[in-house]
Amino acid sequence: MVFTDSMGSAHRAVDPSMHSGQAFSLSVCRALQEWFEVDDLCCITFIYVSSALWWDIHGEAHRYVTELKVRVGRRKTDNSIDTLRSQAVHSVLDSWSSTFKDPTYRGSEFLELQQPDGRPLQPLYLNGGPWLSCFGHSITEFARVCPCITGHTPIGAYYHRFKINEPHGCTCGAALQSRQHLLFRCHDRYSVHYPRFLGDIASFMKYNPTVFGFNRDPSGVR
Ligand SMILES: [Zn+2]
Repeated sequence: MVFTDSMGSAHRAVDPSMHSGQAFSLSVCRALQEWFEVDDLCCITFIYVSSALWWDIHGEAHRYVTELKVRVGRRKTDNSIDTLRSQAVHSVLDSWSSTFKDPTYRGSEFLELQQPDGRPLQPLYLNGGPWLSCFGHSITEFARVCPCITGHTPIGAYYHRFKINEPHGCTCGAALQSRQHLLFRCHDRYSVHYPRFLGDIASFMKYNPTVFGFNRDPSGVR
């Protein structure tokens, strides 16, 4: 009979499948297997005892068990599935970061922005990455932000680059309506400074609610 204040830990202790404490669980299972094989009547009953009851013998056992430190492997956690997963994730992120520096991978017109600490903004898998976590709440805003950041936005410079029969100039009179012009230099748009952070882009989109969007349906689209 095993008295425990954590049925989750008890279940984990006899669970041989992959998890962070698998090495400990396998040791427990190996010891129990020998004991079970001695007699068919051998069985274990787990009984939950809340630690809030302050059962003195239970408290004493708890103190004894938590003082016992068992090391598995050469280092403390070098063979746990959590460590292996973490190493795999870091390896993928490193590779993703270095690939992202290549303009042929991310796109030659990709808008470079910074993290709050000044380092270049990097792709991450958490919360969809920095771009989606900042703008993903609004499909209409993201529909303007995404083309702006990737450089595939319906503006004069894009029409010029892809030889599309649309005006290349800006409504303010500038000869070429580039992204940089719209973000910082256009007299018809409101901007304070050239955007360095995602928050700057968010402010710009807020004060200029139609820029970088289609102002009419492209021909053939209804
Ligand atoms: Zn302009």
